[in-house]
Amino acid sequence: MSGALMMPTGYWGRVALVDLSRGRVEVLGLEEDAAKLFIGGKGLLYYYGFKLIPPSCNPLDPGCNKLIVAPGLLAGLAPSSSKIGFLAKSPLTGILCDTYAGQVFAAKLKKAGFDAVIVHGRCRRPCYLYIEDGRVEVRDAAHLWGALVGDVVEAVRRETRRGASVAAIGPAGERLVRYACIIVDGFRAAGRCGLGAVMGSMGLKAIAVWGSMRPPVHDWERLRELYLRAYREVGENPAAQYNSRRGTLDGVRACSRKSMCPGWHWTRPWLPWEGVAERLSGDEVLSREDRGAYRGLAGFIWGWGCPVKCSKLVRPRRRGFEHILVKPEYEHLAMLGLNLGVLDVDDVLLLAWRSNQLGLDAISVGEVIAWFMEMCSRGLIDRDEYGFTISFGDAEAAMKLMDMIAARRGVGAVLAEGVERASEILGRGREAAVHVKGLESAGWDPRGRRGMALSYATADVGASHLRGWPGVAGPPSSGPAREAVESLVRDRDWKALMDSLGLCVFAPYPRGLVEEMYAAVTGEERSADELMLVGWRCEALARIHAALSGRVPEGDTIPARWMEPVPEGPLKGERAFRDWEDFGEALREYYRVRGYDAVLGVPTPETLRRLGLDWCIPWAEEALREAGRRRECMYRV
Ligand code: SF4
Repeated sequence: MSGALMMPTGYWGRVALVDLSRGRVEVLGLEEDAAKLFIGGKGLLYYYGFKLIPPSCNPLDPGCNKLIVAPGLLAGLAPSSSKIGFLAKSPLTGILCDTYAGQVFAAKLKKAGFDAVIVHGRCRRPCYLYIEDGRVEVRDAAHLWGALVGDVVEAVRRETRRGASVAAIGPAGERLVRYACIIVDGFRAAGRCGLGAVMGSMGLKAIAVWGSMRPPVHDWERLRELYLRAYREVGENPAAQYNSRRGTLDGVRACSRKSMCPGWHWTRPWLPWEGVAERLSGDEVLSREDRGAYRGLAGFIWGWGCPVKCSKLVRPRRRGFEHILVKPEYEHLAMLGLNLGVLDVDDVLLLAWRSNQLGLDAISVGEVIAWFMEMCSRGLIDRDEYGFTISFGDAEAAMKLMDMIAARRGVGAVLAEGVERASEILGRGREAAVHVKGLESAGWDPRGRRGMALSYATADVGASHLRGWPGVAGPPSSGPAREAVESLVRDRDWKALMDSLGLCVFAPYPRGLVEEMYAAVTGEERSADELMLVGWRCEALARIHAALSGRVPEGDTIPARWMEPVPEGPLKGERAFRDWEDFGEALREYYRVRGYDAVLGVPTPETLRRLGLDWCIPWAEEALREAGRRRECMYRV
């Protein structure tokens, strides 16, 4: 990589490259192209991920894979600039994957003087990184190996600074569970795709950061005015006020009404509210808020300068259970509750707490356990085989199974591989495994909303609910899925911009304000539409990389379960698409709108030129050849 060139303001122009094998830290210049076309946060993750991680790389080989960490451009400079991004080649899916967490890590990293940190290699003894005001140290963490996440955060703060923000892995990451996650400050998960296992493979237990430097900004006076305006406008927005009280807690009510629940492992997308879904209502969760618990934690549970403050601290009503946790998101209630047939809110809170402490992605572990429950209930697995079976609704056994997964003990060693590989290893239940491109699905069943399944199928990372929601109304039978493409693309690119700027999507920023803040920080006037191209650029790079890894276009599909008709409720008979033809038509339309090859789903050279990515045309040409060869072989077989 070359040194810094003509950089817009707003960047330090410094990227730390940490080689754990040699214990060496080098500071590189930020490349001009990276700043101009990829902005920050998500954009920088994909820029460096594409350039530095070969598609053939084994994700658990720390000599080849890289862990990249990047704060958004506005981190610490705008209200609710909370998102810190991590990217590596995923051990779960084999493709590049980005994942985000709040709340103050990003601002502290930006104030520590770095635009990104890239880690590779494996330390001889377990270690953690400590980053403070322009320095990066590799410190010994042998005494923390094996510890739960909360204990790591406490210990690292004692050894560094009380105010340091700490991203840590739990035992699951150390044991290379393919969906182990990174937990920030003990509460917030950078959950998806197993990046905790990438840290585990490097012997890296945590990254702690503290920063007090003033980032370079083009016009501080203007930025100060905009900050105050954003704080007021975002805070007064009715959606923000709703989020402030409820966050995503009312998701259970919405999903049960709209046949979008993953109930009983995606066999009951519609659930009656009274007496069933209401047991996991937002009110139930909020009645467990512990108002006395905030003291000393306020600096870590809300995003930087956030007027919304949606996080609440709750305490499960269980005798002898001493811990508090940040209120669960909808995904916890859906994947550790409805999906497992567990309807006791305290059981769900305990499962959520345990998955956090072990460093397991709550969505993936929920899917894997529910799939195993289904295998047991259908008699496809019996007790003789692994000495362990489990029924829907059995929260105690689910908790035990989580521990077995994190320790890779017994059947836990199989389930630690993720639902796609587990079904292949066991040679059964493939038709019931709910994932896209190997990533277990988020807890929104697409049979209740037109175009939702298209979002899952075309998302570069797999079945993520954060890759855009379609804006068309009604269930899948209400019209062709291709009509959802335009709104899906817009929402997808807007979210990518928010992740590149580091802004939280629960803080509803108007487009004009985003443009003005970008100009105040960088000194460059660019429209929101132009800035949103960052989403398209990231996706283009991701799809070329995935095609070279064998996941595109093969992975652009949906699990069979979602084409089974909804068995009951007002949307009885609905499927994720009207039929497979409807899906094929929508997929072709998506490829067309994005400028991808009509059959192979890989960006064409013309599209890359349009996006200013001429330098990766040779890669795209190779990806087109590779994907074409695989397709030919498939037809020959
Ligand atoms: S809205 Fe909630 S999640 Fe977003 S930054 Fe604020 S406190 Fe954090």
